[in-house]
Amino acid sequence: MKRLIFTALLVSTVLTSAFLFAQDKKGKKKEPPKKELYSGEPIKALIITGGCCHNYLFQTYALGSGVQKLANVQFEIVNVGGNGTDAQIPLYDNPDWAKGYDVIIHNECFAKTTDADYIRKITAAHKDTPAVVVHCAMHTYRDAEVDDWREFLGVTSKRHDHKSEYAVKVALPDHPVMEGFPTDWVTPSDELYIIEKLWPNAKALATSVSEKDGKEHPVIWANEYHGTRVVGTTYGHSDETFRDPVFIRLLAKSIVWAAGK
Ligand SMILES: [Zn+2]
Repeated sequence: MKRLIFTALLVSTVLTSAFLFAQDKKGKKKEPPKKELYSGEPIKALIITGGCCHNYLFQTYALGSGVQKLANVQFEIVNVGGNGTDAQIPLYDNPDWAKGYDVIIHNECFAKTTDADYIRKITAAHKDTPAVVVHCAMHTYRDAEVDDWREFLGVTSKRHDHKSEYAVKVALPDHPVMEGFPTDWVTPSDELYIIEKLWPNAKALATSVSEKDGKEHPVIWANEYHGTRVVGTTYGHSDETFRDPVFIRLLAKSIVWAAGK
């Protein structure tokens, strides 16, 4: 078994909103400000990021700080595996790696990692831990023969169309993730992932059309993986997408809904 050992750079940063619990002059705690989408007990979220082809430091910052303005979410971040296409990160060696988190956000890019045992350590935890999966997560483990990761994602994709500004058509406006989503959103410059298969437990929430062949592809979906909620979007290539408030709001809605809040 080919195994790459990387120096683990575990950036376990809690972007906690605790600093917002400012104290007034008498030392009494002020109530935290109400957030538009969710103000209850903090949702504990783990962002797993790293790998090829994207500006993951910026994306993680934009996602974390943007979502926290809309919803009470505490983030921890694991950014390991370098910036290549093949890595096995030590996080998953612990079978309880997802314990204690309400939701895992996969925003990583390791297309050439193929080890089935390794992939199944990840999907096993997701049988009872919800997830939000972003962009290159859909091409992570792309070269693997086993379908476990794709079944978890809810889609099979092996390639993408060129970068362009894609119109996004809402397919299921009544789904909680799509509540408030504009009907005329066009992405900043981003990649359209070609969806070969939408898995039986997945529902397309929004679609875009290929400029090459006119075919429609799911770009936002909700999946049910062994009864657990997974929300995905194939957008999120460019920094511009992560600067777009519509995209950040979509991620916030996805996190809150996947976490069951
Ligand atoms: Zn990309």
